[in-house]
Amino acid sequence: MMTGEQYEESLRKLKFKVYVQGELVENPVDHPIIRPSMNSVKMTYELAEDSQYEDLMTAKSHMTGKKVNRFCHLHQSSEDLVKKIKMQRLLGQKTAACFQRCVGMDAINAVDSTTFEMDKKLGTNYHERFSKFLLKMQELDWTVDGAMTDPKGDRSLAPSKQIDPDMFVHVVEKRPEGIVVRGAKAHQTGALNSHMILVMPTIAMGPDDSDYALSFALPADAEGVFYIYGRQSCDTRKLENNDLDVGNKQFGGHEALIVFDNVFIPWENVFMCGETEFAGMLVERFAGYHRQSYGGCKVGVGDVLIGATALAADYSGVAKASHVKDKLIEMIHLNETLYSCGIACSAEGHKTASGTYLIDLLLANVCKQNVTRFPYEIARLAEDIAGGLMVTMPSEHDLKHSEIGKVVEKYFKGVCDVPTIDRLRILRLIENLTLGTAAVGYRTESMHGAGSPQAQRVMIARQGNLENKKQLAKAIVGIEKK
Ligand code: SF4
Ligand code: FE
Repeated sequence: MMTGEQYEESLRKLKFKVYVQGELVENPVDHPIIRPSMNSVKMTYELAEDSQYEDLMTAKSHMTGKKVNRFCHLHQSSEDLVKKIKMQRLLGQKTAACFQRCVGMDAINAVDSTTFEMDKKLGTNYHERFSKFLLKMQELDWTVDGAMTDPKGDRSLAPSKQIDPDMFVHVVEKRPEGIVVRGAKAHQTGALNSHMILVMPTIAMGPDDSDYALSFALPADAEGVFYIYGRQSCDTRKLENNDLDVGNKQFGGHEALIVFDNVFIPWENVFMCGETEFAGMLVERFAGYHRQSYGGCKVGVGDVLIGATALAADYSGVAKASHVKDKLIEMIHLNETLYSCGIACSAEGHKTASGTYLIDLLLANVCKQNVTRFPYEIARLAEDIAGGLMVTMPSEHDLKHSEIGKVVEKYFKGVCDVPTIDRLRILRLIENLTLGTAAVGYRTESMHGAGSPQAQRVMIARQGNLENKKQLAKAIVGIEKK
């Protein structure tokens, strides 16, 4: 396994082509807007080195028997699925941000079981190729970007019916040695902190969409790949050399648009090419795993937000008010409900044909549906307790100013034994989590990441077994089965 330092150095060797706010960036690792997101992924390596977290952060490879980072592991039991959730909660607590590496973990688990079942039915040999890729991933301790979401153009049209064929990643040429692909993947979490990209289709597909039923892997700096970095609310505060105002100076997350401009992929890295009937299975499983993931990561970030809110109450002297206590209880209740869903869909996991464990899909979708709601309520309660100062207070430059600094110090003080700067630090953290750069991960990503709310409702309808429930009611009152 790599150390955190080795991970950072390994990224420096990659030749990314990335645009940030219209400028081509030479060195993404040290770019002040990107770097906090790299620190979050680095934490997934650092905690794996720490013996106290060994049980959660590492696992025994089912292929080699060697110790690997859990982010490179295929779940071999329900216990593995539960440990995954606990690991994600831990990392959310340590970073208060999206630590990005889960998309690759969720992708390998989904691609493994899908290629196995596809080969069995169609006689293809994708699973063997994929297993070789996975072996390398475990040996080299890669961070992998699991890339699913296409830009999708006109949502009412199937991939093959789009006016612009590039709205979904597709094959433009098949050669004896491999394929050439074109298109883009949008909102790609952690793309620039990844060594490899593992592409999957974004929706279930029909027979006409065979050029779009694709899964393949490639180095993140492959020829023809480039990135356009996503903006986040308040991101340029990171350029101001101002620790207080960023709220969380060490950690963050990122998303980017990845463009594939006629990229060559050798056959050994192609794991689906034209098998439209299996596109839906791959999507459903990846989405299911990532919907499970949110019952861990968002809960860890929620822990930090609840802690910050309780401190804000302490620092302004309102902690004893009964409505404040009650609101904190409500925040904990909501957060632990999300965790319960993450644990439940993991504990109810089952073995697939390849041996890899899959979560209970109904419960994973219920988990994510709750994530589209509860973090918003937790954030609302945090803002309620924090008060308006979290969005009206002056900057660190004012606090440190030779003349007005003492005015800021005096008028923004709360209880007398807490330094004003500590009170302001906590309020800025709450601002960061609810409105700033981290709000991407805690709020809008809670809504749309791993699929928008309606996508979960479709799955809940499919998995909910309403007919069985009708039979239960009939049996109680004695309505005969027809
Ligand atoms: Fe991991 Fe959560 Fe970020 Fe997804 S949103 S990559 S599950 S931390
Ligand atoms: Fe996500």
